[in-house]
Amino acid sequence: MRIVLLGAPGSGKGTQSQRLVQRLGIPQISTGDLLRAAVAKGTELGRQAKQAMEGGRLVDDALVLGMIRERLGEPDTRGGFILDGFPRNLAQAHALDRLLETVRQPLQAVVQLEVDYGELVRRISGRRTCADCGRVFNLFSAKPAALQGELCPKTGAPHRLTQRPDDNEATVAERLRVYDEKTRPLIDFYRARGLLQVIDAEGEVDTVTRRLTAALGAATPRRTTGRTRAATPARSAARKRPARRRAAARTASARSPRATRRTASAKSPSRRKTPAKTSKAAGRRRRAPRGKRR
Ligand code: ADP
Repeated sequence: MRIVLLGAPGSGKGTQSQRLVQRLGIPQISTGDLLRAAVAKGTELGRQAKQAMEGGRLVDDALVLGMIRERLGEPDTRGGFILDGFPRNLAQAHALDRLLETVRQPLQAVVQLEVDYGELVRRISGRRTCADCGRVFNLFSAKPAALQGELCPKTGAPHRLTQRPDDNEATVAERLRVYDEKTRPLIDFYRARGLLQVIDAEGEVDTVTRRLTAALGAATPRRTTGRTRAATPARSAARKRPARRRAAARTASARSPRATRRTASAKSPSRRKTPAKTSKAAGRRRRAPRGKRR
């Protein structure tokens, strides 16, 4: 399956992508991870990206697109992929459309992870990554045993927890502002294409994973080339779902064939925490004044 996960910094795209990798057997492509690796290696790309990343701004489209084109050309993406952190603005979304169109492998689902602003800030400030195995922890949600007692599978020693350099207060505020300005418009972009699903991404990680897989199960697979229609773990899983649930998913799709198809666990618009703009007027009605929202 070819999937995009949309969501603000701290909404859990990375954590949920890693779980999907295990379930679906397709790779996660995180532009943030690719860029951080380039910075760590000191490549030319990393050198050019570093300043923008440290300031919480977007890295130049041309650099990111070059990187994505190369990554999507690798053979492990033939059975599908999960894009995490890309696209991040309309220009990138259009470029991705064109790129996938040329290989006749259009996106099949875009899932927006909704999290309240205050919770995003809390999650980001508590986020720590093991410098050795890359596992992500959260000081506020992880059980103390996981933070102290568990051993790193790579070194056999306790995890060495580090904080991402752009997870400081000033940069986080800028990243969230950039998300609102540049990335949020993608919600309407993908909704108009009938690809968007919105899920509530607060609560237990396992609960969010269940909502996410339900949303992906309800996504309508698009026409693809013969090769990519080969059975994927996602499709086999969908076939194994009880008939009652398959029928419910079909009814939900039939009820709103064009607009966002929400799963039973997805939020209704009135309960959304960071409302997506469906139209300018509707957006104005639902959005609280900026100061109050944050
Ligand atoms: P987060 O979603 O928590 O902000 P990421 O790891 O996705 O973190 O991204 C970290 C930084 O890498 C971003 O703040 C930005 O500078 C850069 N970046 C990642 N993906 C893109 C992209 N698609 N376009 C431009 N810059 C990007």
